[in-house]
Formats: sequence, C-alpha cells, structure tokens
Amino acid sequence: METILTIRKLNKRFNKYVHAVKDVSFEIHRGNVYGILGPNGSGKSTTLGIVLNVVNKTSGDFEWFGGKVATHDALKKVGAIIERPNFYPYMTAKENLELVCKIKGTSFEKVDEKLDLVGLLERKNDKFRTYSLGMKQRLAIASALLNDPEILILDEPTNGLDPQGIRQIRDIIKVIASQGTTILLASHLLDEVEKVCSHVVVLRKGEMLYQGTVHNMLDQNSFFELQASDLSQLKSVLSNHAEIDRLEEQDGKLLVYPKKEMAASELNAYLFQNNIVLEHLVKRKNSLEEQFLELTNNN
Ligand code: ADP
Ligand code: MG
Repeated sequence: METILTIRKLNKRFNKYVHAVKDVSFEIHRGNVYGILGPNGSGKSTTLGIVLNVVNKTSGDFEWFGGKVATHDALKKVGAIIERPNFYPYMTAKENLELVCKIKGTSFEKVDEKLDLVGLLERKNDKFRTYSLGMKQRLAIASALLNDPEILILDEPTNGLDPQGIRQIRDIIKVIASQGTTILLASHLLDEVEKVCSHVVVLRKGEMLYQGTVHNMLDQNSFFELQASDLSQLKSVLSNHAEIDRLEEQDGKLLVYPKKEMAASELNAYLFQNNIVLEHLVKRKNSLEEQFLELTNNN
C-alpha cells in the first residue's frame, strides 16, 4: 500500500519542562482513516502542526509521499483544518470558496461539487456570518477539499458541535473516505475514533501507547468477571493456574485476565474441580473506551 506519510522518532520540546511529543513513529497508508487519540495536552495538535510545517520539530523525521518531493510542495496535496474555520463573514459561502480557489489556483467548478458533498449547496448564497458552527465547520471541510487533496487532516473536527452537527461531520468524513481520500484526524473522543477510523495511534503525555487497527484494539483482551462466597480462596486457586496472567479486585468482583483466549466453560470447570462454585461468571471484552481509559490513566 502506498505510504502517504512516515513519521520517525519525532520529538518536540517547547521548553525545559514541556516535552510535548516523545519518540512518536507511525505510517499513514493510502485509503485508510487514521485517528490520533489522546486526552487534552497529549500532543495531538503539536504532531499535526509539525507535519504541516507550522510547528518546528526538535528531533526526528517525517516524510510526505515517500520523500520524493519537498515538504512545501507535498503540502499542496494535503488539505488541513487545524484551526477554527475562518472566512469573510459578509461574503456568501460560494464567494468565500471562490476566493480560496483563486488563492489555491484551482478552477471555480469544484465549488458546487464540494458544497454539495458537505450538504451546503442549498445555502451557498447565504452569508458566512449566518452559518451555525456546524455549517462553518462543514464549509471549512469543503474548502480544504477544493483541490482534491490526497489526504485530509482534521484537528478535533466535532469540538463544540451539538449532537446533530457531530453526526453530520462524521457522516461527511465517512463519505470522503469512501471516495478514496486518506484521512487523519485528531480527537480526544474515543467513540469518535471508534465510529470513524480504521486505524488509531493513541497518545498520552506525548508518548505513543498503541498503534494499529481499531479492530485489533477492540479485539484484544477478553477477561472474566467472577464472584464467589470466598474471594480469597478463589484468588489462591486462580493464582495456581498457568494460563492466567493477572487478577484484579473491583467492587467485590474478581477480574481475571488470561494470557490467551480462554472459554468461560474451561475456567468454570477448573474452578469446580478445585471445589469452587461461582456465584457469577461473565466473559467481558474491553471496549475501546475502557482500554483507552486504562491506557491513559496509568500503565
Ligand atoms: P493536544 O492537541 O493533544 O491537546 P497539544 O499538542 O496542543 O495537545 O499540547 C501538548 C503539550 O504541549 C501540552 O502540554 C501543551 O500545553 C504544550 N504546548 C502546546 N503548544 C505549546 C506552546 N506553543 N508553548 C509551550 N507549550 C505548548
Ligand atoms: Mg489539540
């Protein structure tokens, strides 16, 4: 698969105290939707800023399109929205986009197509100042797409929007992706990444905790939730089981993490043979949310 962006051991120190990005490495391949997921202050915007040449890196490398073209030229094939949308308030959406076309040197004929894509064609002759925040954000997406970029970069695209506005933006992102445009979006919302992205890079305090497919992240780590009248007996029996990685107590229940996939019946039979009758046995899979919270809390 064609590589759009390669990042190697990227570091950013703003000053002695703030090491915003620490040895971050990942690759972006054509046609996928990538999420950079992390709580506020984890280095998402800084990472995007560096690859877009608006923030200077401290060390490490990044390379657009296999490094065949200089960053300045490569960025002409990148559509990015990293700030709040800003257009001329007294001009219409159509006039604003035509101005962007003039600046980018693209033809006006894309204006209606992109307005249609983001659901604003009917409102194209309304002044920007009359737009809701969601409409402004959609106009920004249309604007970033005017020159048919290879990749669209969005920083927290649904921040501040109401539920309907959030849905509209997410649906538009999916349509753009289905047309073959690669997407990279930063978000602190795991359900957003879960709903929209195929791949994810998880950051905490500038450090990369996970990278891979959203599917694999969701697929990892089934575990069991157990209850028995004698919890300490249960614990001691389980600690003798070779296939069990670790135990955790939570709200009077014992969480059991096996080293590899294990059937509930197998665990139950083992405990029964060891004279334990369970009051409660549930096999659970960590949702991305639980894993994200686990990853970002402490580990
Ligand atoms: P995110 O986008 O994940 O919320 P940022 O990349 O904006 O995180 O910030 C990462 C860290 O870098 C934070 O601790 C933030 O305070 C710090 N930071 C960001 N920009 C600057 C700056 N211009 N000067 C100093 N520190 C900064
Ligand atoms: Mg940010």
